[in-house]
Amino acid sequence: MRIAIIGGGAAGLMAAATILETSETAKVILIERNPDLGKKVKISGGGRCNVTTGIQDVRTALFRYPRGGKFLTSAMHAFPPGSVMEWFESHGVPLKIEDDLRVFPKSDHGEDVVRVFERLFDSPRVQLLMKMSVAEILHDGKEFTIALKEQDPVVVDRVIIATGGQAYRQTGSTGDGYAFAASLGHTITPLAPSLSALHTKESWPAEVSGSSFASARLSVPSAKAEYTGPFLFTHKGVSGPAAFALSAQVAFVPVSVNSPIEMRIDLYPEQSIDALYEDLVSRVAYHPKKSIENILATFVSKSLADVFCRELGLANSRRPANEVSKKDLRRIVEWLKGIPLHVIARGGGDEFVTAGGVALDEVDPKTLESKKCPGLFFAGEVLDIDGYTGGFNLQASWATGRAAGLTSADV
Ligand SMILES: Cc1cc2nc3c(=O)[nH]c(=O)nc-3n(C[C@H](O)[C@H](O)[C@H](O)COP(=O)(O)OP(=O)(O)OC[C@H]3O[C@@H](n4cnc5c(N)ncnc54)[C@H](O)[C@@H]3O)c2cc1C
Repeated sequence: MRIAIIGGGAAGLMAAATILETSETAKVILIERNPDLGKKVKISGGGRCNVTTGIQDVRTALFRYPRGGKFLTSAMHAFPPGSVMEWFESHGVPLKIEDDLRVFPKSDHGEDVVRVFERLFDSPRVQLLMKMSVAEILHDGKEFTIALKEQDPVVVDRVIIATGGQAYRQTGSTGDGYAFAASLGHTITPLAPSLSALHTKESWPAEVSGSSFASARLSVPSAKAEYTGPFLFTHKGVSGPAAFALSAQVAFVPVSVNSPIEMRIDLYPEQSIDALYEDLVSRVAYHPKKSIENILATFVSKSLADVFCRELGLANSRRPANEVSKKDLRRIVEWLKGIPLHVIARGGGDEFVTAGGVALDEVDPKTLESKKCPGLFFAGEVLDIDGYTGGFNLQASWATGRAAGLTSADV
């Protein structure tokens, strides 16, 4: 049995490793256009590689996928985050779970994750075709012929398409797999960037660029989208895990300068508006002669307090707080609970993943085999699956790669 795996990213690497470790005879031909394996794995998590999530309950983890969670159920139960951790640790990569439940190599080096595969592939059953780009895949009903741009075609019994999405194209993931899948009878759902920073019409975030919050609720009411988590202001808008997750939820909502979407930021998601109002009133009563600007600076940073007073149009924010009307105090609290911003763009080209991909109803979720073309398998981001930040995208790649590897080698 000769199995070609197209793409040496997380999904392709795990598929190849699984074939080697579970089949005694199957031969792997791993085709990768880059000179090295796992380019995206190495840069993921800021170079530290957030291998998976520390959330051990699969059902809870599946909620972190805006698209594809249901489809992933089977592959994730078969290779859940805990098993992924065991697998890497048993292959010589000690891991650590950080407070926010992200899992990293103890060394903080993504290269260590890729090195596991490089060692495993030093085997006569693996042929690595590096610096080779697949141009086309043909199927005659029995065998697959893989046309390469650099050399003669390769003929195999089975193919796993693990070409990733089209985010960070400089890593080699240019979306070629969508065309291969389509040519073999598959539907490709609409594609969109996901997990990106959001740019706002308002320019004031630049004045507080770098101000970060451990937990705020970001929402787009018109899309019924919301996420609570860490975020920060940037020179163009907002970024950080909550902004990324929100961008994933609204990945298919059109935004532009001419048709912005309204976003709200609740800096106090755990407190009701009334409780926050009472808190503000009592701080004013305690320091009646302090300026309202300075009182506000006990809730948020001084620079943000300055911006708030200006944006709220508070006349003379330096006047004593006890001179500020109840109406204005209420407006301040409403602002803290729902800062209005307008999203006009996604951070172009800096998204982490692609939403959309090979339509999931055309792929068997247990085996990852195509329902359209027997012998063809898919794994990883090329599928219509995307998760939030926190290790969920790599986890999906490991799990689907594992399932595709297991079943493709099954005679
Ligand atoms: C900057 C950044 C940081 C990230 N951080 C994290 C993180 O910390 N945790 C997390 O879970 N996820 C993270 N992600 C997302 C995660 O890295 C990806 O979802 C995951 O790596 C996808 O794996 P994949 O194997 O499906 O595809 P890819 O890793 O994209 O691999 C596909 C491979 O196929 C090759 N290829 C494509 N077309 C061809 C062709 N025609 N011929 C030959 N080879 C081809 C490409 O060169 C590439 O190496 C991050 C993404 C980015 C961009």
